[in-house]
Amino acid sequence: TAKLEGGDGIAWFHAELHHRVVAQAQLDADLPGALARDEFLLFYEPQIRWLGGTRRIIGYEALIRWMHPQRGLLSPIEFIGHAEQTGMISEIDDWVLRETLRQAKIWNDLRSSADFVLSINVSPRRFAEEGFAEHVERTVRQSGVNPHQLRFELTERSLIKDAEQAREVMQRLSSMGIGLALDDFGTGFSSLRYLHDLPVTMLKIDRSFVRNLWESERNGTIINSILSLGRDLRLDVMAEGVETRAQLDWLAAQGCSLFQGYYFARPRAAAEIAIDFATHMQEIGGDGPDEPRRG
Ligand code: C2E
Ligand code: MG
Ligand code: MG
Ligand code: MG
Repeated sequence: TAKLEGGDGIAWFHAELHHRVVAQAQLDADLPGALARDEFLLFYEPQIRWLGGTRRIIGYEALIRWMHPQRGLLSPIEFIGHAEQTGMISEIDDWVLRETLRQAKIWNDLRSSADFVLSINVSPRRFAEEGFAEHVERTVRQSGVNPHQLRFELTERSLIKDAEQAREVMQRLSSMGIGLALDDFGTGFSSLRYLHDLPVTMLKIDRSFVRNLWESERNGTIINSILSLGRDLRLDVMAEGVETRAQLDWLAAQGCSLFQGYYFARPRAAAEIAIDFATHMQEIGGDGPDEPRRG
């Protein structure tokens, strides 16, 4: 019977694999028209300053979702890779910038002051394209939003290909007042070499270190190195993926005060964020999550 089971297992594996390959091919085929069909939307994940038991939402990271007519709401892991390969990511990134600026204006009107920052992810591919900084300048100027309300999250992949060009683009964005964060920090070929002469304003500790905090001492050691690097270079350091009170307490004890993660809030649609504003949720004190844990 062992042999039979093995055979079934292999047949099942082939069927499952076949199904997945076909489903992914279908998604890839649907992707090019998704912008024109207006199927993308942004979710916003609160970014929090948590210090001495007081919590404040200081901004939001915009995270793309694809509302697929048959498959429902899709996460970026299901389509960003393909968009990067085909180059469609550039159009997507430009859409995200426009949409974020549009949203910033709406939220600014609901607030007495424009006291939050919106973070957006920029793909290495778009970042390296000729004219990217000029495009950003033009788009932000036309929107009327203060560039200080924007932060771009870049990964180290954006910096290594052509370091000199990357520096120029970052310099231009930075001189406009746009903040620059290094995303997933600690997972790439982190070199301290580029950090000191780039106008980076924030390091985001990758979520994998926080998730595996109790699994291996190394994770804690890496987090501490990033925090100390941030102190020495006077950069903000934000921890991603905080899911538990124990993680938060440990990070806070190490001197971290900026956080993102499901412990505080999940990414949500714009309409739900507006409710935060209407109810002044972002200035709430205390230390618990601001909504019951879901999912
Ligand atoms: P990222 O920029 O590192 O974003 C953080 C990811 O971690 C998000 O996943 C977020 O939903 C998730 N996350 C945040 N807090 C927690 C937590 O406490 N626990 C867990 N388990 N997960 C958490 P998401 O939205 O699926 O995005 C995945 C990646 O896709 C992003 O990683 C980013 O690299 C990319 N991405 C998302 N939106 C865009 C976009 O508009 N443009 C580009 N170019 N890339 C994007
Ligand atoms: Mg990010
Ligand atoms: Mg990240
Ligand atoms: Mg990440």
